[in-house]
This record gives sequence, C-alpha cells and structure tokens, in this order.
Amino acid sequence: MTESATEPTIFERIAAREIPARIVAETDRVIAFHDIAPKAPVHVVVTTKQAGYRDVVELAEGDPALLAELVAVARDVADDLADGDFRLVFNTGGGAGQTIFHVHAHLLAGRLEEGSLAG
Ligand code: 5GP
Repeated sequence: MTESATEPTIFERIAAREIPARIVAETDRVIAFHDIAPKAPVHVVVTTKQAGYRDVVELAEGDPALLAELVAVARDVADDLADGDFRLVFNTGGGAGQTIFHVHAHLLAGRLEEGSLAG
C-alpha cells in the first residue's frame, strides 16, 4: 500500500478523530462506526483506518489478512449490537452505489426488510 497523494478520505478522517462518528469497535488497522444514514436497525460501516484500497477486490488481492480482520470486526460488532446474524455488503463501483472509494463494508443487522441493501 502506498501513501495517497490525494486528500484523506472521510473514513480516514473519522479514524483520525478529525470528523466525529459513533465508533463501536476498532483494531490497529480496522475501525467500525454507525453509518450516518442507516438503512437497517444496525447499520455500521467497517473499514480500514488507512486508505489505499479502493474496494473489496483490491483489498482481497492486496492484503487478504486485512480483509479477514475487517470481517472478524464485523462479526464482533454483530455479536455486540445484534444477535450475531448479519449481512455484509461491499458496494463495488459507482454503478453499484459506491460513493466513497476507500474499501468498506456495510454491516446490516437487526430485523431486516426482505431484500434491503445498503447504498
Ligand atoms: P458507499 O455508498 O460508498 O457504499 O457507502 C458510503 C457510506 O458512508 C454511506 O452509507 C453513507 O451514509 C456513509 N457516510 C458518508 N459520510 C459519512 C460520515 O461523515 N459519517 C458516517 N458515519 N457515515 C458516512
């Protein structure tokens, strides 16, 4: 992963505590916080603290251990905030609803509407 020459992403700024968020879990490399516009009873963004991977495909290819860590944090949050069952949605590409090009999962849990997806 290389240093980005561009502006920090919103999610990097949340990880740096420059933008407030309701943080629910973190490790050295992963952070989870409530989505500002929830689409489910529990809707948490789980993301890497550093940018560098635009989407889940890049992360899976570039650092599969970090992807596994992100999934483990999602599981822990679903255990803490719901009954342990959850959906994990990675919008990948603008056509699929991705608006922030810093890899992140939408953790959706609680009583979900049939077919509901984030984005
Ligand atoms: P995407 O559309 O890229 O898959 O997901 C981006 C998500 O980030 C959206 O669900 C959006 O509501 C959330 N989001 C955007 N800006 C902020 C913010 O400043 N704080 C929080 N907590 N969530 C944000």
